[in-house]
Order: sequence, then C-alpha cells, then structure tokens
Amino acid sequence: MSFLSDIKAFGLGFWTTLRHIMRRPVTIQYPEEKRTPFPRYRARIVLTRDPDGEERCVACYLCSAACPVDCISLQSAERPNGRRYAAWFRINFSRCIFCGFCAEACPTMAIQMTPDYEICKRDIMDLVYEKEDLLVDGSGKDPDYNFYRHSGIGVVNPRGANPDEESPVDVRSLMP
Ligand code: SF4
Ligand code: SF4
Repeated sequence: MSFLSDIKAFGLGFWTTLRHIMRRPVTIQYPEEKRTPFPRYRARIVLTRDPDGEERCVACYLCSAACPVDCISLQSAERPNGRRYAAWFRINFSRCIFCGFCAEACPTMAIQMTPDYEICKRDIMDLVYEKEDLLVDGSGKDPDYNFYRHSGIGVVNPRGANPDEESPVDVRSLMP
C-alpha cells in the first residue's frame, strides 16, 4: 500500500514538472512593464486620516510593539484637550519585512499597507521615512471609521464628567 502511494506521489511530481515544461515562460520587462498587484498586496505603509481630516494615529505604540524587526519608532504628544498624536513617527523601510503586523495591531486604522511596491532607493538612508513622508490626506480602508467618536477623549475632565458618559463603577462597592 505504501509502495503504491509512493509511486503515485512520484508520478504526480513528474507530471507537475512536465506540465510546466510545456508552458510558455512569463517574462515581465520591469520597469518598462509593470504588473498590477492585488488590492490586498502588502507594500508601502502609510498613515491615514479620519473622516474629519485629523490624524488617526493616537501614538499608542502598539504598532511599534508588534513589529518583529523593530523598525517603527515614534514619540507621543498630547493636545490641550487630551487628544494624543505622534509628535514624530519613523519607519525604517530597509528593515521592514511587510508582514502587516503593525496594521493588524493598530486600533485606529491609522497605519495601513498599500500595494505601492516601488520604494527602492540607492541610498539606504532614504528608506527611513518620517511622519511627513508617511502621512496621507485620505482615510484609506474603512473611510468612515473615527476612533475618537467611539472612545471619546475623556482625559481632561474627571471620569464620568464628559457629556453622554456614565459615572464609573466604584470597585470598592463590589467587594463582599
Ligand atoms: S509591516 Fe511588519 S516589519 Fe514592516 S513595519 Fe509593519 S510590523 Fe514592522
Ligand atoms: S499607528 Fe496605530 S498602532 Fe501605531 S501608534 Fe498610531 S494608533 Fe497606535
């Protein structure tokens, strides 16, 4: 039984090779000819804006923590109303492996991958992108999502003092 399945596996392997020998090779004359990648192709990273045109990034550092090659760095800052933003935001694309973990980790949809794969540079230092290079005008995927509309800002007023916010539970009242 196992001998027969071995023969079958060999046969299938040779058949696959034979089929591909008969096919015409596909040669793309890049960069004169360009292939259009799939819409979900993961290449250049951008920072998007919410529907009000504000920066979506709340400088939570989750993307930086999720990055397996440690190529994202940023510094958080806060506006007088308590809204957080990234004072600076940097991605070193010479180290990025385009895994998409940063976009998965982002709670605000700020950081997104795009199909733009043409980011080769002669000088490796040109692959270090600052916030000005990363921030785009649009909202990209999920254009209606606005993190602060869901979460509120709520760090300037005491908890429960913002409009439409209920008083927080006193945990000591839950003790036996
Ligand atoms: S795509 Fe992956 S490697 Fe690149 S910045 Fe995001 S988490 Fe890091
Ligand atoms: S891009 Fe997203 S995950 Fe990264 S710091 Fe900004 S809000 Fe947090």
